[in-house]
Amino acid sequence: MKGYQSYTLRNLRQIPQVKNNLSEEELFNIEVVGNILPFKANNYVVEELIDWENYREDPIFILTFPQKDMLRPGHYEEMARALRSGARKPELKLVARKIRMELNPHPAGQLAHNVPSIEDVKLTGVQHKYRETMLFFPSQGQTCHAYCTFCFRWPQFVGMNELKFAMRDTELIIRYLRANPQITDLLFTGGDPLIMKTKILHNYIEALIEARLPNLRTIRFGTKALSYWPQRFVTDEDADELLALFERAQKAGIHIAFMAHFNHPNELQTEMVAEAIQRVRNTGAVIRTQSPIMRNINDNAEDWANMWQKQVDLGCVPYYMFIARDTGAQHYFAVKLERAWRIFRQAYQKVSGIARTVRGPSMSAGPGKVQILGVSEVAGEKVFVLQFLQGRNPDWVARPFFAQYDPNAIWLDGLYPAFGKKKFFFEHEYPIIRRPGPVAKPVSQQRVSV
Ligand SMILES: *Cc1c(COP(=O)(O)O)cnc(C)c1O
Ligand code: SF4
Repeated sequence: MKGYQSYTLRNLRQIPQVKNNLSEEELFNIEVVGNILPFKANNYVVEELIDWENYREDPIFILTFPQKDMLRPGHYEEMARALRSGARKPELKLVARKIRMELNPHPAGQLAHNVPSIEDVKLTGVQHKYRETMLFFPSQGQTCHAYCTFCFRWPQFVGMNELKFAMRDTELIIRYLRANPQITDLLFTGGDPLIMKTKILHNYIEALIEARLPNLRTIRFGTKALSYWPQRFVTDEDADELLALFERAQKAGIHIAFMAHFNHPNELQTEMVAEAIQRVRNTGAVIRTQSPIMRNINDNAEDWANMWQKQVDLGCVPYYMFIARDTGAQHYFAVKLERAWRIFRQAYQKVSGIARTVRGPSMSAGPGKVQILGVSEVAGEKVFVLQFLQGRNPDWVARPFFAQYDPNAIWLDGLYPAFGKKKFFFEHEYPIIRRPGPVAKPVSQQRVSV
């Protein structure tokens, strides 16, 4: 395969497969949506992952190329009108900005709320929500090899940063890790931190190794590079150095863990990805996998069972199934909670215990990661059984709790406590802000009488 070729709206019409297959109308639709939600692809994704014979239903095409229905009709028309009228850049930007603000760009204030400080210095570029794990957003790692159309980080790719990723040096991070011995895991995230050149990563990792922090057990990378550009670990000119760096960390007693994003089994079929996984594993690193469940991409049990099985075949460990967040094009991707649980359960039943390391479906919400254990009936009331997989307060974890059954619920803020209770047990410490909407119903109207 040739070198890296990046595709954006600017050269969309020059992508051979796009030029040869898409109608003028389809191209225009991509331009309309792509002016609001970010678009980026590359030659590997286009040539190896998408089936162009069948691109309209192809999961990876939908995953990377903006689709008309990702915008509500009003928003679509607004941008389409601006483009048709030949509006110039500054005007398009204004229209885009207005629409983006209506797409809940910062769900649950999720970055700004969890930024820690040390000695009165704010660690912008760090998020610390769960006791053992600190997230680090290195400034050079805030883009990706391609963009997923569902991504909840979309605002940062279009320049709407909630958080300025200003932190370049590791000195403050090391001080924070020293001052917080309860932290065992440092998670590099983004964007995709493995878009960074090895030389830059080397500076971070080397400093962490040399600091000899007794509490730092694991360095994790939240990455989609294995899917979107596996060459990163095989043929890129600094691939071998990157693997050597992982090996060095392992030898120094720091476990290297990949939190790899794979959304569909089709991402696991190329020789390049198999080789990349093998090479990463040879360093002693462990690859764990995660993905949201999304309508139009992977909302069926076969795909999940196949994906987990294929991951196990390749030596990866299935880890999380998430629920799509309430941002961007959620109406296009959202799978109802009950349906997500049914799909999870069916898929889980299809694979052996080796692949049942996966947990989900789980919502990464304000109070924590909430897993839907299932639908059940308790004392005559139909309920959702839930539990925290991660909690803002660690004491909340692994304690079953109950919400009123609602077949249309898609997120935690649409759920109400069961058994006539006013609040969930954790809401005394962390109230859920409920938004009015078709899903939200007051307790009194919804309670099932016993
Ligand atoms: C998911 C997540 C983590 C990691 O949680 P694990 O269950 O340990 O994988 C850490 N911080 C935040 C903010 C997260 O959402
Ligand atoms: S690779 Fe990850 S951060 Fe990048 S667009 Fe996809 S989901 Fe978002």
